[in-house]
Amino acid sequence: MADDKGKKPQQQKTQKKPNKRGKAYKNYEVKSGSLTRKTTFCPKCGPGFSLANHKTRHTCGNCGYTEFMKKEK
Ligand SMILES: [Zn+2]
Repeated sequence: MADDKGKKPQQQKTQKKPNKRGKAYKNYEVKSGSLTRKTTFCPKCGPGFSLANHKTRHTCGNCGYTEFMKKEK
């Protein structure tokens, strides 16, 4: 019983945050050995900053650049 006094409360394990860089790899698709780009890069920020896909638009999370998709008929 006496041992409990000196015990520190166990800290909750912090969840590992997913690597931000790893997320970018989702935007690539390897087809027959060649790398195909699925997303467009931000024209303002340059390569490396891919635009996030939305239903009607692409947006850059870095500068806020928005590119609206063409309506298909
Ligand atoms: Zn940008």
